[in-house]
Amino acid sequence: MTLSEKDSQYLWHPYTQHKTAQTPIAITRGEGALLWDENNKEYIDAIASWWVNPFGHSNKIIADAIYKQLTTLEHVLFGGFTHEPAIKVAEKLMEILPANQQKIFFSDNGSTAVEVAIKVALQYFFNKNEKRTTIIAFENAFHGDTFAAMAASGISFYTQAFQGMFIDVVRIPVPVKGQEEFSFKALKTVIESHNCAGFIFEPLVQGAAGMVMYEPEALATLIGICKENKVLTIADEVMTGFGKTGKTFAMDYVAEEPDMMCLSKALTGGTIPMAITTFTQDVFDAFYDDDINKALFHGHTFTANPTGCSAALASIDLLRTAEMQNNIQRINVSHLIFQKKIENHPKVITARTLGVIFAVEIKSDAEESYYGSMRTKLYNFFIEKGVVLRPVGNIVYILPPYIMTDEQLQKVYDTIEEAIEMV
Ligand SMILES: *Cc1c(COP(=O)(O)O)cnc(C)c1O
Repeated sequence: MTLSEKDSQYLWHPYTQHKTAQTPIAITRGEGALLWDENNKEYIDAIASWWVNPFGHSNKIIADAIYKQLTTLEHVLFGGFTHEPAIKVAEKLMEILPANQQKIFFSDNGSTAVEVAIKVALQYFFNKNEKRTTIIAFENAFHGDTFAAMAASGISFYTQAFQGMFIDVVRIPVPVKGQEEFSFKALKTVIESHNCAGFIFEPLVQGAAGMVMYEPEALATLIGICKENKVLTIADEVMTGFGKTGKTFAMDYVAEEPDMMCLSKALTGGTIPMAITTFTQDVFDAFYDDDINKALFHGHTFTANPTGCSAALASIDLLRTAEMQNNIQRINVSHLIFQKKIENHPKVITARTLGVIFAVEIKSDAEESYYGSMRTKLYNFFIEKGVVLRPVGNIVYILPPYIMTDEQLQKVYDTIEEAIEMV
């Protein structure tokens, strides 16, 4: 039996209807931007394995850092104890985060980073004896699959089984070009008519919605409105963080700073699951009291795992090298050239680029659903050609590891052009 065949006996995969899904591809090896399956077929990983892997698979520098940490101190509880790797991660993040971010809280994945931020927003006002219980989020947002993160997410088929069981979330439109005023007005209306605690958003790019982009000026206006009304702002940078948008954080483009930020995915270079939520001093101070009941009673067993921290330290160092910054610029320039080439194609609705993120919307007859027939056709075509791309409905996006070579990138572009002709 192949690994793919054995898999179906015990394994339950994410976002998968096992009755109709194809058998998963068993990957045995990865190096740089490449993956190999059990039949030694080669694939270009054009989406950095769900946006986690900027520096390439099986990266030796991160692996060495992890090995060193594993053989020094693999883990110690973070309740009542601390350790150098966690402190170093905090110090390093302070150098690169927006200046107002002063405190960091560790957890395990993007959803928990969001869960922590939402709980902190709600308890912030509870601690101040103010009744504010509504969270504001964008339409079609994605913030993760745990309960509060799911409540904040607006992609309906992810959440429909749980409607009526959520915390109070009100949605406003994304301020895409031409729609900014609707978004500003909706935010003001929500704030007037609800007791709002926080506003959570994916800054500049909504990943899971299909790389939907909007301008930093619009986000600054929205944050400004929240500030005037003392609504806490949460920048979910789980996808956009660590160079994807061309700057270290998407918030680096925005004139206003958020009250909290959520980080994960590329934080450890795609090696060890870890996440961080960051806060201003003001947020931290709302929990700082002689009364133990005002503390944040939230934690995870593996909080601040030293091995994960060592991977994060190595990753942030890699990100800051001139070589990696050049790679990000190189890919951005290359995307823009490709965008120009295909945006006027009769089958293309629109194409867009920010940093290393590229997306193209392909014309389709029917209203194309997330996992619709065009999506399946495209996905299978890419896999057959040895390129890992996961279209969202009729939107094909590229989010390559920064180390992807020009040749590999060209193959990804060529394959997408062929796919546009094919569908
Ligand atoms: C992926 C993602 C999450 C959830 O992260 P997980 O590690 O999958 O739980 C949250 N927010 C955004 C913006 C994401 O892209």
